[in-house]
Amino acid sequence: MKKLKSLYLSIPFEFRMSTVYLIIGGLWILFSDIIVAQLTNNQNALTQLQHYKGWFYVASTAFFLFIFTKKHLRKLREAEAMAKENEKLKTAFLENVSHELRTPMNAIIGFTELAQASPDIQKETSQYLQIILNSSKQLLAIVNDVMDTSLLESGNSYIKVESIELNPLLNNLKGYFEPLMRDQVSLKLLPEVADFSIQSDREKLVRIFHNLINNSIKFTHKGSIEVGYTLKQKSVLFFVKDTGIGIKPSLHKSIFTRFNQVEIELAKRTGGTGLGLSICKDMVQLMGGKIWVESKPGLGSKFFFSIPVETKA
Ligand code: ADP
Repeated sequence: MKKLKSLYLSIPFEFRMSTVYLIIGGLWILFSDIIVAQLTNNQNALTQLQHYKGWFYVASTAFFLFIFTKKHLRKLREAEAMAKENEKLKTAFLENVSHELRTPMNAIIGFTELAQASPDIQKETSQYLQIILNSSKQLLAIVNDVMDTSLLESGNSYIKVESIELNPLLNNLKGYFEPLMRDQVSLKLLPEVADFSIQSDREKLVRIFHNLINNSIKFTHKGSIEVGYTLKQKSVLFFVKDTGIGIKPSLHKSIFTRFNQVEIELAKRTGGTGLGLSICKDMVQLMGGKIWVESKPGLGSKFFFSIPVETKA
């Protein structure tokens, strides 16, 4: 009996329901017609009985359908609520872990910088400290990437709108990235106007620029990286252009998907998790915009992203 029950339950719900419905319906038509035929020979009375029989069938199937779907919907709703609860717990756990990881990482970075700034430090020690510093920053970037990806994927990343002055934001980016540039590469800012403000999410905007500029630095060995924006009717078009190695047109879409690195060998040499551009894409989409690339191998890359904005000039 138990085996029969588990076999019955292993059949998907929609098949079970339709089969039971067909069997009961078939039996009902078969037997009820025989019974009705035995009750009377009067044609009028038979028609009347068939009429009641039809109504009885419709009412009783509606009743059972209601009971069945109610029972199963309750199960589904319970499962959905549990999945949501699990998702919340997972996000809370990830936030917690990432906070726990970030705090000591920031301490390592901060104190290494302090130690490096000490006046009587030996050259060799300073080189070792630089290695610690670079590795810690790399590790922090990975933690941030994994954290952002999981928040975006689980739908727990939200937009916090504030007023942003674009030119100071670009100047800050320049201040941050200038020391990281290779010797033969220059960093240029190309804002369209002298002063412009938008209502948007500063943290996300900065994060997108950081990912794009970091990539440009990684893949550009000579020439320039240009960062700026142009104003469109209801949006701002931001860009990061470089004179680096470029990307084959056939890969222009796939690089925006998770873990996609154009060449694994190259990725090994340049590092990175393959999450940077997918984070940019998800964040831009969350802000209601679009991101794309124009590039050819050997001719550099131009990354564009547009963000719809309520402007406040
Ligand atoms: P990663 O962490 O590997 O940089 P991304 O998602 O940021 O991951 O980038 C995915 C891949 O796209 C990179 O591994 C690289 O092959 C390619 N790519 C991204 N930006 C550039 C660029 N400016 N120039 C050339 N290739 C790029």
